[in-house]
This record gives sequence, C-alpha cells and structure tokens, in this order.
Amino acid sequence: MSTPLQDAPPAGGVWDEVVGQDAAVAQFRRAASPGGSLAQAWLVTGPPGSGRSTAARAFAAMLQCETGTGCGHCRACVTTVAGTHPDVTVVATDKLSIAKEEVRALVMTAQRAPATGRRRVLIIEDADRMSAGTFNVLLKSIEEPPPATVWMLCAPSAEDLAPTIRSRCRLVTLAIPSAQDVSALLQRRDGVEAGLAVRAARAAQGHIGLALRYATQDGALAAREESARSLLSLRSTGQAVLAAQALVERATAEAKEHADQVALEDKERFLRSAGIEDGKVPPALRAQMRQLEEDAKRRQTRLVRDVLDRYLLDAHSVLRDVLSRHLGTGAELVNIEVEPEIDQAAAHSTGHITLALLDAVQEARERISGNVPPLLAIEALLARIAVSHR
Ligand SMILES: [Zn+2]
Repeated sequence: MSTPLQDAPPAGGVWDEVVGQDAAVAQFRRAASPGGSLAQAWLVTGPPGSGRSTAARAFAAMLQCETGTGCGHCRACVTTVAGTHPDVTVVATDKLSIAKEEVRALVMTAQRAPATGRRRVLIIEDADRMSAGTFNVLLKSIEEPPPATVWMLCAPSAEDLAPTIRSRCRLVTLAIPSAQDVSALLQRRDGVEAGLAVRAARAAQGHIGLALRYATQDGALAAREESARSLLSLRSTGQAVLAAQALVERATAEAKEHADQVALEDKERFLRSAGIEDGKVPPALRAQMRQLEEDAKRRQTRLVRDVLDRYLLDAHSVLRDVLSRHLGTGAELVNIEVEPEIDQAAAHSTGHITLALLDAVQEARERISGNVPPLLAIEALLARIAVSHR
C-alpha cells in the first residue's frame, strides 16, 4: 500500500480557503488519491462558519480537477469553486427547511452520468434542514448511488441527520478554526489590515463569515462591543425586559430588511421569467406568487433566529470571559474591549453563579431553536443575568 501523502507538498490550490482544517483536508486528499478509497456519500460536519460548504466545494473541485489535485487554476477547478461546473450541483437554503421537491430534483440529477467531468457531485448545504419525509426521498439514492455520483451533505453535527442516512456516509469533522487562522485568511484573501483582522477574528470566535463581516461592515464591531457592555450593566428585571424587547425588535428589523430584499429579487426574477411586464399576474400563476410570499416569511423567521443566536453566542463569550477571571486562568479575553466591565462583574459574582448563567444561555439557544417565542426565551435569560449581577 503506497502512502502518497507522506511527501506531499502543502495542499494549496482550492484548499487555500479551507483554513485550520489540516486533518479534514488530509482525509479528503487521501480519499481522492490514486490508492485511496473514494466513498460515494460524505457527511461534512462542523459548527456554523467553520467552512463546511467551502470544504465540500474544494473536495468537489479536487474530484473534477484536470490534474486531480485541486490545482485551483484549471477550468474544472475554477468553475467548481465559482458554482458553474455542469457536474457539480449545490443546494443551499436560507429558509427553515429544504423542500422535498428540491431534493427530488436533486435525486433525478444524481442519476445522470457526468456531462464533462469524471464525477457528478451533489452538495447539500444545511442538510440538517430536511424533514423525515425529505430524508426518505434522499435515502434510496444514497444507498445505491450511480457509479460516478458522489453525495456531500453538510450539517452542524452527525446527530442532525436521520440515522439511516448518517450510517451510509463517510464522516469528516471540521474543527473550529483558530482566531489566528481566520485572521490570516482575512488578511490574505480579503486584504484586511492586520490589527482589524485580529480583532474581527477574535470577536467572531471561529466563524469565518462573521469575521469578514466584522472586518468590513462599518459599526459591526462597535455594536457587538456595546451589546456586551449593556449585558453586563443589567441590574433589574425591568431593564432586562426592555433590553429583550429592543433586541428582538432589532433582530426582526434586520431580518425583515434582508428578507424583503431577497423577496423583491425573487419576485422580479419570477415576473421576468414568466414574461410579465405590467406586474399583473394571471390567475394561473398566482399560486406560485403566493409560494414566493410564503418563502419570504419562512426566510424571515429563520433570519430572526439566526440573529438572536449570534447574540446569544456573544453573550456566552462575555460570560465565559467573566468565568475565566473567576478561575484566574490568565487566558486572553474574547471581549478585551470591555475588560473593566468584565472584571467588575467577576468581582460581584461567583464562579458558581457564572457557570449557571452559561448554562442558561445554552438553554435559551435550545429553546429558540425549539420554537419557543424568542422574546420569551431572551427575557427569561436577561432577567436571570440582571438578578445575578445585583
Ligand atoms: Zn484543477
């Protein structure tokens, strides 16, 4: 058995953007190498922002690459990464769930032989957003894929998928990329200035997309800092209720703005493709228009939850900083900008209390993802934090 990777040069090429994932990259490269065994169904797991879909696309590029390495320069690599390779199909959703029809269409595509490439690769981002019925549509094709087909499912964790699907996939687990790795990527890929890249990467805690936003969106870092400060200054239930209201209102407004924008683009695209110029939708197409409106609502619901979850992750990082002061670990704070407030909070509570609050944050995240009205969950959490700070 040969071990072609022992003297392999650094991955490079399409792997350049897959940061902090040496083990996963080695696993992919081994599987695609001449002596490797290529599984036909893969499950790429990792926390949001760790680069699951980037890794899946890089692997797809490697499978299509004219040199078989994922060189990053050949036509196959370039089109795969750009999302235009005819034999690589990506399904992503910004809604609460992936529609069964979408997966059905994907299964049909999976049956077709590759048009130009050596393989047909199907990538499902957010594969955790499928209902049991949709999983069943997928199952058959994953059980017995056509010879040239490779499925790649991406999800936060293996437990997010039905066991029947999970057990048929080769698992690749991504790590949370380090702040150093993310900061280096922002500097190299996006030309972000070093100091800002370090701050943005630290605040984003391993979420690459979020780090980029912090580095490029005016006021985003300052707003995060402000919300950390206000979390630590809560002193009464009344303040907590007001803060929760303001937070949910802000999240809703942010989500609505984005969802409205996407809905408008969807509608224009639909009208254009139907050849309607005066905006008058004939009766036969009204059901489709209604579907677009439904989609917009679901998209907004999911976005509100995403925005609030990001807030809760930030709150978690603040409390963890407080805990590290209790424990005297000397670890560098994530929220170094509010260090005085963190020291003060640590002086007025105990490690025991802070640990309980960290649990409460996790509980709030679970409640929101389990359909508890966000305002209720956030109010309860902030009230608890306020009372503990007195
Ligand atoms: Zn290539």
